[in-house]
Amino acid sequence: MNVLKFGGSSVGSPDNIRQVSNIISDYLNGGEKIIVVTSAMYGITNDLIEVGKAAAADDENYTELSDRIVSHHLSAIKELIDIKSQSSIIAQMKFLTNNLEDLLHGVFLLKELSPRTLDLVMSFGERLAALIISSYLTQLGFPCEWLDARQQITTNAQFGNAKVFESLTFENIRKYFESHQKLQVVTGFAGSTSKGETTTLGRGGSDYTAALFGAALGADEIEIWTDVDGVLTTDPKKVQDAFPQISLSYVEAMELSHFGAKVIYPPTLQPAFTEKIPLR
Ligand code: ADP
Ligand code: ASP
Ligand code: MG
Repeated sequence: MNVLKFGGSSVGSPDNIRQVSNIISDYLNGGEKIIVVTSAMYGITNDLIEVGKAAAADDENYTELSDRIVSHHLSAIKELIDIKSQSSIIAQMKFLTNNLEDLLHGVFLLKELSPRTLDLVMSFGERLAALIISSYLTQLGFPCEWLDARQQITTNAQFGNAKVFESLTFENIRKYFESHQKLQVVTGFAGSTSKGETTTLGRGGSDYTAALFGAALGADEIEIWTDVDGVLTTDPKKVQDAFPQISLSYVEAMELSHFGAKVIYPPTLQPAFTEKIPLR
């Protein structure tokens, strides 16, 4: 079994989602068992932070930004999903976005955005992406479910950068998969405390979600799909002649990620290393 994680840049537009779905279809048609982990659509986490801050700052225009977030997802659904299935998926989207809008209204009234509330606001991006991708895969003939991984990933209450209780999380993940055989499209980035409060694992944390699911289920490989060809010698956006490294030890990858190689979120390496699961 492989875990395939797709970052924001890989699920930024309907075209990108089609491409990602082709990659997933290739695995499934080849009889491979996989789990998909997704980030929010490109730019959405930043937009959610911005809209939360605008609401807290008493800026009435926050609703414009929130409308833009909603219509971004709505237009992706309209472009990807056949007209006959759209209404049920739009209803599921509305359930999420109405919830988000209520929350933002609360932030606006209270003029307060605590780290705890911000985590809840941010968590909507991954949930919306997982809903859209799983709906599109179902339409392609791959029955699947989207999994809100806040239910499995148990953390402390360090909002914005929560620490995961790994053994409990692994137990939750294994238990869930005992009774869910369908393909799962899992939300990256968010978890929850024992009191059920939403937390996030730090910016870029969906990589870590993928590693947690991979380690819990003894995956053969954890694949981090992104917009560059692997871990390069340095950031290709800054240095033109950066080139891909064929292989790295976990320790080397850990070092690179700690020193700013955003391509892999540092905590991701540890569960993979402990369980000796290759990260590709
Ligand atoms: P995703 O949205 O898929 O999670 P990220 O933006 O988090 O993608 O990570 C990919 C980006 O990491 C690349 O576009 C690249 O600019 C940046 N990056 C920084 N350092 C490195 C490196 N050493 N190797 C590869 N990419 C790097
Ligand atoms: N969407 C989150 C972020 O932008 C998590 C991730 O992309 O890995 O930080
Ligand atoms: Mg990333």
